[in-house]
Amino acid sequence: MSDTTRRTFVTTAGLAAAAASALPALAQDTPPTPKAPTTPQAGAYPKPPFPNQRQPWPGLASRMSPRPDHGETSYKGSGRLTGKRALITGGDSGIGRAAAIAYAREGADVAINYLPAEEPDAREVVQLIEAEGRKAVAIPGDLRDEAFCRKLIVDATRALGGLDILVNNAARQQTRPDIGSISSEDFDATMKTNVYAPFWLSKAAVARMGPGAVIVFTSSEQAGDPSPDILEYAMSRAAVLNLAKGLAKQLAPKGIRVNAVTPGPFWTPLQVSGGATPEKLRMFGQSSPLGRPGQPAEIAGLYVAAVDPANSFSTGQIFGATGGGGQPG
Ligand code: NAD
Ligand code: MG
Repeated sequence: MSDTTRRTFVTTAGLAAAAASALPALAQDTPPTPKAPTTPQAGAYPKPPFPNQRQPWPGLASRMSPRPDHGETSYKGSGRLTGKRALITGGDSGIGRAAAIAYAREGADVAINYLPAEEPDAREVVQLIEAEGRKAVAIPGDLRDEAFCRKLIVDATRALGGLDILVNNAARQQTRPDIGSISSEDFDATMKTNVYAPFWLSKAAVARMGPGAVIVFTSSEQAGDPSPDILEYAMSRAAVLNLAKGLAKQLAPKGIRVNAVTPGPFWTPLQVSGGATPEKLRMFGQSSPLGRPGQPAEIAGLYVAAVDPANSFSTGQIFGATGGGGQPG
């Protein structure tokens, strides 16, 4: 222990002892504050370094090490979305899966979209939704195709008997070291998945939604503070944040709300299937003030809040879970 460290320690310990002896008798009788972590595992979530791993895109949550926590055993509902009908893109894994579990436990029927390669992850989510006694609808398909986006909204609305909630959550993120290595194919695929698809889906959904419906966009802290190695991805997160704010104003007279959620670093397949370099992945989340990545379970409550009818004055809002990093405005 260095001199400075020892001095700091002694000073702090001395202050604590002095404070304890100065406590009035009444305060000493007060029962201890219960230990209340925000989720059952909050104190024990994994920190970097993480084991080396790499999966082909789009990746599976079931093959990640450690496996992400999507709230499978921890999320408890309280009827906040009883009878609602929700479509979540990218609902097979990561943040979208956490939202799907939470919505089902809050009483909603849930349709998920994902890529055909993600069927094993999607099956797990379908089982989790059905275990709550809710209807689960699985609609695989590629969102880069406008015709598929329109069909997805039609099919989900038909299968659910209506559409109250659309969560535009699917995204593509592939790290590239410099602007010269981002091909036009890369740029196109990222924009089609992350910007065009949410636009196409929202357009088709609004035509079928009534008062009380809500659209949520997953954006990112990248919208306000872009990392240099995911340029076009960060652009796309800024674009949907802007769309959420503008669409909220446009749809307010119809009684349709629009909100955005902005995650910081989260432990999901997106990161292990090309979203981050091996070096970044190994220390993933370390640079956030909490010193670790978020687990999808830790953001599920914000997706519930963003659509909860009790929050009926909240439209055009940004709900953040950045682990202490900057929240885009
Ligand atoms: P994820 O890999 O679990 O989810 C992304 C999903 O996008 C995939 O499961 C896949 O189903 C879907 N997808 C991708 N391309 C598609 C296509 N062409 N057609 C249909 N579906 C497609 O990863 P995640 O991190 O949970 O990502 C969810 C959202 O969170 C994304 O919008 C992402 O931008 C955002 N986000 C993630 C982080 C993070 O650190 N993980 C940080 C900020 C924002
Ligand atoms: Mg997935």
